[in-house]
Amino acid sequence: MILGLLKEYGTETRVALLPETVKAFTDLKVQVLVEQGAGETAYAADSDYEAVGASIVSRSDVFAKAEVLLQIQPPAEGDIQKIKDSQVWISAFNPLWDTKLVKTFLDKGTTTFSLDLIPRTSRAQAMDILSSMATVSGYMAVLEAASKLPTFFPMFMTAAGTIRPANVLILGAGVAGLQAIATSRKLGAQVQVFDVRSAVKEEVMSLGGKFVEVEGATEDKAAGGYAVEQTEEFKKKQQQAINDVAAKSNVVICTAQIPGREAPLLIPKEAVEGMKPGSVIIDLAASTGGNCELTKDNETVVHKGVTIIGQSNYPAQKPMDASRMFGKNVLNFMKLIIAEEGALNLNFEDDIVKGTCITHAKEIYNERVKSVIETK
Ligand code: NAD
Repeated sequence: MILGLLKEYGTETRVALLPETVKAFTDLKVQVLVEQGAGETAYAADSDYEAVGASIVSRSDVFAKAEVLLQIQPPAEGDIQKIKDSQVWISAFNPLWDTKLVKTFLDKGTTTFSLDLIPRTSRAQAMDILSSMATVSGYMAVLEAASKLPTFFPMFMTAAGTIRPANVLILGAGVAGLQAIATSRKLGAQVQVFDVRSAVKEEVMSLGGKFVEVEGATEDKAAGGYAVEQTEEFKKKQQQAINDVAAKSNVVICTAQIPGREAPLLIPKEAVEGMKPGSVIIDLAASTGGNCELTKDNETVVHKGVTIIGQSNYPAQKPMDASRMFGKNVLNFMKLIIAEEGALNLNFEDDIVKGTCITHAKEIYNERVKSVIETK
């Protein structure tokens, strides 16, 4: 197999494979073409890639010669035509949300894998880019909140008096939320948490957070560990409870998401107006509309003294470790499609390969994507 590693675009600073992971591919007899400068923003030089057996080539050569194209971000508008129908495209392109791109790939007949849809099974844990990147986001969200907050996170007892610890409210206790709880606690804040999945209560408590219970949440085991849409009655009850806690919080970290849908609205404008001036909201769900009504993706908004930061790509602020984790996940996944002597083997008998495949031979393979496209 000839694997082509593309340089990312825009504000993305990560790279899908660092040299250390490229070495694992060359050891498997995969030929790796690296676009010139691909690792620059993650502090990996072209010479580091060459040292582990990769060839540095131009972008057009990667598109012309690779059998498998690898990039973190979805293809840029102008790159879609460059992908040949016979090539395999691997990235994280949010197909439950970006159905237009899925239809484009479907029409072209390209084989595509979207790593954000790796099934959530124990065998697939080491390939789960969502978990890896959510870990970075949860950590960074807290650090950014702590640096923007006009008060401290920990309690300080000083000769100049006692400083009270910050109150942090975390919405959603998935991977990012749990990391945000752990980081907030390490910095000494008091943490309260909302989620609609009761299964997370013990994890929240074991990390030192207080789980705020609202009765009547809808849960669905078939959703693969994800949250589902809630009833109107529950939403009203939950809203009241969130408004009350938010009014007493200095920081709100929003992480609540529902795959394939807009993020649930949990902090309406009135709730922001009920918060103390100087408070900070970090909205990690910004790219799918945000949990806060006033969130703007990739922007900072200040409303009546409350700072609302819409940030959906914190991993790009930690490019070395984020690339390291992403690359390890890619390697673990790609081992499933690499046969002897490094040959490409699309083994759709494997549930992880089939579940992560979005389009192949003009068909949609992933069942969730198929149903989203059929109902749109
Ligand atoms: P996510 O990013 O889809 O959502 C974040 C959190 O928001 C979830 O905990 C969800 O329940 C919560 N949420 C959604 N709507 C909400 C609402 N209205 N109010 C409050 N909270 C709401 O989730 P995620 O972090 O990617 O993962 C969710 C879970 O999947 C994990 O906690 C874990 O149990 C499971 N998981 C399994 C594997 C695996 O087995 N390979 C890997 C990763 C995650």
